[in-house]
Amino acid sequence: MANGSAGNGYAVHAEPKPAPLDASKVTVTLAETLKEVPPPEDLVFGKHMSDHMMVSTYHPVTGWSDPEIKPYGPFMLDPVSSCFQYSTNLFEGMKAYIGVDGKPRLFRPELNMKRMERSLGRVALPSFDTNELLKLIQKLVHVESRWIPNLNGYSLYVRPTLIGTRASLGVAASDHALLYVVCSPTGPYFRTSRMLSLMAVSEHVRSWPGGTGGYKLSGNYAPTFMPQKEAAKKGYDQVLWLIGETITEAGAMNFFVVLQREDGDLDVYTPPTDGTILPGVTRDTVIALMKAHGSKTNLPEIPSTQKIHIYEESITVSQVAQWASEGRLLEAFTVGTAVVVASVGRIGVEGKEDIQLPQHESSMGPVALSLFEKITSIQEGREQYEDWSLVC
Ligand SMILES: *Cc1c(COP(=O)(O)O)cnc(C)c1O
Repeated sequence: MANGSAGNGYAVHAEPKPAPLDASKVTVTLAETLKEVPPPEDLVFGKHMSDHMMVSTYHPVTGWSDPEIKPYGPFMLDPVSSCFQYSTNLFEGMKAYIGVDGKPRLFRPELNMKRMERSLGRVALPSFDTNELLKLIQKLVHVESRWIPNLNGYSLYVRPTLIGTRASLGVAASDHALLYVVCSPTGPYFRTSRMLSLMAVSEHVRSWPGGTGGYKLSGNYAPTFMPQKEAAKKGYDQVLWLIGETITEAGAMNFFVVLQREDGDLDVYTPPTDGTILPGVTRDTVIALMKAHGSKTNLPEIPSTQKIHIYEESITVSQVAQWASEGRLLEAFTVGTAVVVASVGRIGVEGKEDIQLPQHESSMGPVALSLFEKITSIQEGREQYEDWSLVC
């Protein structure tokens, strides 16, 4: 009997309930010597880590340990930990920006928290109140704010991670876990051109119906590295992932195409979140901004009288090739936290000529450029929109 009753009228010792994750119990131990923050021009995505990290561990009896913000450093883990053997790992990716007021802010972090909750459920890892995690992230970002270069396009990339630490070779869910958050200063994704080339790949699939492509699980990424290397060898920046002929995503980014309509408006297509694509925060943001164009807000490079009709519908590479040949394909672009928005310049298709997209002087099409400008100005606090910015 779990809740203090033996069922015969006599009270028994109540088993202590596992402790919930509690941000109010955080202890902060600052590093004795702080690292030197590299000059902005030397920042390479994910290379430099900040001084501190947030850590809490889960034990099935005692629950979540009191969270600690402490100096960044290695973990010691049992070699048969579930994370090493069975890939019970997942992560989130979000950015903190310095606003015009000098305060760090996160962009729509509650969406990352919800997605993390879905991811951990999928691999049966211990759960926690993600509002508590968000408070801990705010605290960590606050502690690390000197790591955020106060320059347009620069931010602190925040990587919440959850791994299974059950030490057994038994093939089963991990009832022990380690939750941690690390930070890495980051600059603009592209230093020069913002035009990507994509290679459509159907021989290897990133995701499939009923699979885990819709969750940010670490296990989804290792199998993408070999096809990515092959694409790079053939001169393409990223893989355009297909299922058969159907487009799902590009690299680890969501994919959009923009078509000219006869009435002058624009049609925009992006694959639906049917479980085979990752429901990106940037994807959601881009859809919301396009829907609001001409009413609640305006995209800077698009006349407010030009309506954008957005369709979350499956599209195939043949359709895209057809639209290109008819001259209707205005733009293709990819979106994600790291890149924000990137335009696509060409798409390679096995045995066919590359699909060429219109080239623009700014190296981004007007829709992609508008979205990039709009989103970064909201992220950096130059513009207020909804409640999309959370000050740390
Ligand atoms: C993280 C990720 C994205 C982008 O999601 P955002 O929340 O916008 O960063 C898209 N596709 C994949 C496969 C991803 O892992």
